[in-house]
Amino acid sequence: LIAVALAFALACLCVASLALWERHRLRLQLAEVAHRLTGSDAPSLGELVGLIDRQAARLAEMGTIQQQRSDRVRLALDSVPMGVVVADAAGTVVHRNEPARVERELGHTGALVESALEEVLADALAGRAAERQLQLFGPPRRSLVVRASPLLHEGRSLGSVAVIEDLTDRERLAAMRRDFIANVSHELKTPIGAIGLLAETLLGEPDDEVRDRLLERTNAEAMRVARIIDDLLDLSAIEYDEDAQRAAVAVAEVINTALERVGETAALRETKLRAAEGAEDLLVLGDRRQLVRALVNLLENSIKYSPEGSEVVIETARTLPGFVELAVKDSGIGIPARDLNRIFERFYRVDQARSRASGGTGLGLSIVSHVARNHGGQVLVDSREGEGSTFTLRLPLHDERGDLR
Ligand code: ADP
Repeated sequence: LIAVALAFALACLCVASLALWERHRLRLQLAEVAHRLTGSDAPSLGELVGLIDRQAARLAEMGTIQQQRSDRVRLALDSVPMGVVVADAAGTVVHRNEPARVERELGHTGALVESALEEVLADALAGRAAERQLQLFGPPRRSLVVRASPLLHEGRSLGSVAVIEDLTDRERLAAMRRDFIANVSHELKTPIGAIGLLAETLLGEPDDEVRDRLLERTNAEAMRVARIIDDLLDLSAIEYDEDAQRAAVAVAEVINTALERVGETAALRETKLRAAEGAEDLLVLGDRRQLVRALVNLLENSIKYSPEGSEVVIETARTLPGFVELAVKDSGIGIPARDLNRIFERFYRVDQARSRASGGTGLGLSIVSHVARNHGGQVLVDSREGEGSTFTLRLPLHDERGDLR
């Protein structure tokens, strides 16, 4: 029994000393690692754990900073107003910003854009910048360009980047500018050509009476050129809202000033002008000159496009909450339904000859619609061919305290 007990005790001692030795060996190993890491002599286990903890915390911090950096780049790319697609050196798409994701989701056109993207990215991976133009017939009709270039770093390819740009608005503006220049040139060419011809005829004209008539016509054509140029300058100033003075303007005052301005033209055509009641105490916030100009244009049109001796009425009413409407009503020739949505375009006329004969430049209603827009309002038209027209200027009301009513 004693021998068994002794053997057991010896075995226990052996196990205990083995465990002690193992712990010692581990300590020595850790100390060596610590020594390698820090260069210091045999740090304690506590110091070692602290060191590892600090390293782990630093790594976590670096990870967060890295994450923030990539989030920042991702968000910045998402806010770029064009699609951006990045591919790695193997040609796999590794990033697509928000506009590029939206573009891909657009059904049939999305597929066309994707195939153009694949082509240009492949070219860029081969080291060539590439570009594809896409005309998408929609609707809506759109014009896109997809461009890609290689991403090279110290002569090594890191992949390629492609951008998808929508050129629709830019092309539309360029077309509008071209049309506008062509229209202005045409509008000016006609009277200037006439002046040239008249001057030529005048040179050899012996008859005083005929010369006077020719001179009168020359003068009329010159006035027309001046009117077109004046209207163009006004339209451009009003379009850019240049020199606009914002102040509380009495609606009644705008009406009275406009009526005074057109008094002479109305008298020539024996048109009766009448302002119905309703404008008292109403104020709008805006530019007095622009507002008068808009109302004058509407009144002049009503006078021009109505038979002699007819009546033109201005009615004022508070309609929608916070708005005043100035309606210019005539019982003139009216406007065919097919032309109604085009009459606010520059130089658009229903009847070219009639407009020119009555001194029109084709810019009057464009000016009115820009004035309405500058004042947060709009211009509406209700017209029937052969019966008459009502043009309504709708403007936000203003009170003395500066609040909208
Ligand atoms: P214009 O100088 O030719 O009058 P506007 O821009 O003022 O140019 O008007 C565009 C066209 O709209 C006119 O040419 C005319 O055909 C039509 N129009 C405008 N106002 C009236 C109206 N009160 N009655 C009938 N037609 C009108």
